[in-house]
Amino acid sequence: KRQEVPAAVHGIDPGLVDRRASDVVRTLKDAGFEAYIVGGAVRDLLLGLKPKDFDVATNATPEQVKGLFRRAFIIGKRFRIVHVVYGRGREHEVIEVSTFRAYLDNAAAEAVSGNEKTSKHALAGMQHAVDASGRVLRDNVWGPQDEDATRRDFTVNAMYYDPETQVVVDFHKGIDDAKKRVLRMIGDPATRYREDPVRIIRAVRFAAKLSALGFALEPKTAKPLVACEPLLQEVPQSRLFDEMLKLLQTGHALASIAQLQKLGLEKGIYPLLDVVVERASSTFVQAALQDTDRRVGEAKTVAPSFLLACVLWQDVKAGWEQRLTRGEHAFPALQDAIDEVFDKRIGDVSGRGKLAADMREIWVMQPRFEKRSGSTPFSMIAHIRFRAGFDFLRLRADVGEVEEGLAEWWQQFSLADDARREDMIEQVR
Ligand code: ATP
Ligand code: MG
Repeated sequence: KRQEVPAAVHGIDPGLVDRRASDVVRTLKDAGFEAYIVGGAVRDLLLGLKPKDFDVATNATPEQVKGLFRRAFIIGKRFRIVHVVYGRGREHEVIEVSTFRAYLDNAAAEAVSGNEKTSKHALAGMQHAVDASGRVLRDNVWGPQDEDATRRDFTVNAMYYDPETQVVVDFHKGIDDAKKRVLRMIGDPATRYREDPVRIIRAVRFAAKLSALGFALEPKTAKPLVACEPLLQEVPQSRLFDEMLKLLQTGHALASIAQLQKLGLEKGIYPLLDVVVERASSTFVQAALQDTDRRVGEAKTVAPSFLLACVLWQDVKAGWEQRLTRGEHAFPALQDAIDEVFDKRIGDVSGRGKLAADMREIWVMQPRFEKRSGSTPFSMIAHIRFRAGFDFLRLRADVGEVEEGLAEWWQQFSLADDARREDMIEQVR
């Protein structure tokens, strides 16, 4: 079952391996523990892609890991892991270190959570609990490496790489599946979706990300997706919101929407995602999604506020116009329309306050872009969110919602010196 695959066979380029991740593995091994790079990073390395982040798996407990590094923090409750931090500020990098987890089927997990019997793996009070539908609520029972592999999702996500020996440890034929371009769920797919319905969304995400390389979901893995989709209703809104953002903000938004449609999951994962999919063919939202994918591809930052502001813009406009025709004043009418859109479309998600504030600023700037007189343009470019507001205006101009000349004017105004700016304002009149 356990296969050790040498470099000559898997062909991973050691140059793609992050120095810090190798450092974490070496430190753990020097202390006498087992340690490997694991998961998505190994998958990407095997495919010749540069992983965007590196996870390490080890048989050391979180406390033992923490003790070996100068800056390491135990985080998470449902799933305790250690963040080992290198560097400072914008340049800082986090290597996530997780302890090998035991694979528990539902019966075993219930025995642990119910405290009726003591599972052989229920060490030191670590608990693994499931709810009535088989959903895993806590996942902190340590176990051997082969069980750690079995509780992961896809075979290509369940491989371990030792950067020193350059050996890949493969329990589930992940290397074969990578070669065959197959995304295969480990174990019985429906059972695995029941344990953690978020795996449904992960299936879509990896199918989208890897479709350009010729990957497809194995038919047996794809088949229960639609029937299992209602299970997502039991997942906390905030986790669904985060997963939605991963679909939309990791460089494969258009491919993800195509996969949702292809797999019959275009509705029902999460209300706001339904809206995105419905509007993905509108020129404006399509341009926003395309722009997001392009930016991620160029390693530029993307903000959820920008994309969601694009997706919900038509609701804001409709609500605003409605209030204007009722005779309300422009500014409060816009604010009220925005409040209404928030209540209707954005659920109770973490960071909603900041997200809402950023979206509001982008929207409120739009009518102000049309006022190119007095000191308004100067205060606009001094605004810390000017760039986001301007990018939004740019996109509106691209789809013909405002005149190209307006976006062009602001582009030049933002680049000009103050004397030239005064001239530009004069010329508008
Ligand atoms: P990405 O490249 O998008 O980061 P990833 O495969 O690294 O993809 P992560 O969410 O970073 O995905 O998770 C790291 C690894 O942890 C996965 O490769 C997988 O082995 C395991 N994993 C994560 N989430 C789940 C889950 N819900 N069920 C089972 N295994 C999971
Ligand atoms: Mg990852």
